[in-house]
Amino acid sequence: MRAYDFIIVGAGSAGSVLTRRLSEDPDVRVLVLEAGPAGTSPDIETRIQTPAAWPTLLGSEVDWGYRSVPQPGLAGREIYEPRGKLPGGTSNLYVLMHIRGHASDFDGWAAQGCAGWDYQSVLPYFQKLEDQEDGTGPWIGKGGPIPLLNAGLHDPNPTSAAFIAACRELGYPATDDFNGPQMEGTGWHHVNIRDGKRWSAREGYLLPALARPNVTLSASSQATRLLFEGRRCVGVEYDQNGTLQTVRADREVLVCAGAIESPKLLLLSGIGNPDHLREFNIPVVAALPGVGENFHNHVLTGVIQGTARPAPPGHLNLSEAALFYKSDPAQSGPDMQIAFVHVPFDIIVGQQNPNSVSILPGVVRPASRGWVRLASGNPLDKPRVNPNYLGTEDDTQRLVDAVKRARDIFATRAFSDWVTVELLPGPAVAAGAQLREFVRQRADSYHHQAGSCKMGTDDLAVVDPSLRVHSVDGLRVVDASAMPVVPSGNCHAGILMIAEKCAGLIKAGL
Ligand SMILES: Cc1cc2nc3c(=O)[nH]c(=O)nc-3n(C[C@H](O)[C@H](O)[C@H](O)COP(=O)(O)OP(=O)(O)OC[C@H]3O[C@@H](n4cnc5c(N)ncnc54)[C@H](O)[C@@H]3O)c2cc1C
Repeated sequence: MRAYDFIIVGAGSAGSVLTRRLSEDPDVRVLVLEAGPAGTSPDIETRIQTPAAWPTLLGSEVDWGYRSVPQPGLAGREIYEPRGKLPGGTSNLYVLMHIRGHASDFDGWAAQGCAGWDYQSVLPYFQKLEDQEDGTGPWIGKGGPIPLLNAGLHDPNPTSAAFIAACRELGYPATDDFNGPQMEGTGWHHVNIRDGKRWSAREGYLLPALARPNVTLSASSQATRLLFEGRRCVGVEYDQNGTLQTVRADREVLVCAGAIESPKLLLLSGIGNPDHLREFNIPVVAALPGVGENFHNHVLTGVIQGTARPAPPGHLNLSEAALFYKSDPAQSGPDMQIAFVHVPFDIIVGQQNPNSVSILPGVVRPASRGWVRLASGNPLDKPRVNPNYLGTEDDTQRLVDAVKRARDIFATRAFSDWVTVELLPGPAVAAGAQLREFVRQRADSYHHQAGSCKMGTDDLAVVDPSLRVHSVDGLRVVDASAMPVVPSGNCHAGILMIAEKCAGLIKAGL
């Protein structure tokens, strides 16, 4: 059997970081298995590189295109969950907003049994990955592989500036940097763009590593099972264009397949709740009832406002400004994120009303928890995905309240020169029960799926604070699924941080 020191399953956001960092030692042989194809068409490649073109990638050939099971909190709707399927993974699709999360998110991880993951401990890894152009705070990172460009310094859209002015008019504080000491307030996004192009995990980490002779990328290679000798993970079985292959890991297997596919791979390999494994006649290797549980995601909805004239076309990522606030002063950090998008976020409304802009209110500290479970024992079948959106009354109420705040923002003097008629929810939807029903009918995924192989030491924990899978050897899970709780903001930066820290742990022999 072919052998490598490390096998990385999934060349997505986290897998790209590990590939680059672990291959820095030329004596270490790294194999990366990626389910998606090695490349894509010139047209899709251009769209990946163009920051404003991300909406056109959803549903394209480079998207896994998951759908959730019917969501009771969202009027029984099945929610579309895009995920990238090619080298670079979802870092090829995301909207490029760089938000670390609030310090209390990571302090909360540490308090829940993840020793070494408090904000002061993870800060050096955020700084290591970042190359921020401006100096908006004491904690910024310089010189790392991921550029952070301040949208406000690059000819932003006038409607984005109106959004910030509107929030200020309503009394929300201003902040210079959502990643600085004051996350709360309104301000400009930092975005991962360099020379006008998407510059993410693929460009910053994966492509430079692939130039090294000790790195092998095996594309169109979907891992189907982890191989064990006793309790030690010794390799991976994978499907390459319909043929099953096996490969051996002399040191470790690192599962980086994302919050939906990582728990699926563990379950297929006999790591999970024995009752669930028995349903599919999968022999139990390790009884870990938390595999696939604790799955959660941010949830958002949208208010679309008609404008008196077209907003100039976007040359950045279409979302240049935001507002973070606490729904309750007792919160340790902002639990709500309202992003401004200077286009209509809904394709149908947008086609009929090109002159419109959107505010997207989102719950970024949701209480609802769902799961990822196998649909069958066939590794090529998609799993059942249940984010349980608005599964609690509190999540619903906070989102309804945020829609009211979005309407207030459009009703300010700052926007008076722009706005005409509200297109969504629309003037016919009043407050109260109608607005609640609107949220049930229109809330959607914020695409920040996490938590399904959570780190910790409690009964539901799947990996320990070194990201090693409990009860077995030679196996780690390193991606969004390891987050015990998703940070309160877009989570790509946090995922890169996890992988940077994991590379450091492995190099230190931990
Ligand atoms: C439309 C959209 C917009 C977003 N916007 C933002 C944003 O602005 N800011 C932000 O911070 N976050 C954003 N996100 C979220 C962020 O992009 C993701 O959370 C992050 O990229 C996930 O990283 P990951 O490493 O966990 O998984 P992924 O990047 O999804 O990597 C998983 C990789 O594993 C591969 N794979 C899966 N199964 C297998 C298998 N069995 N064998 C081999 N390979 C496999 C996949 O093809 C993929 O390449 C957005 C996401 C989406 C979809």
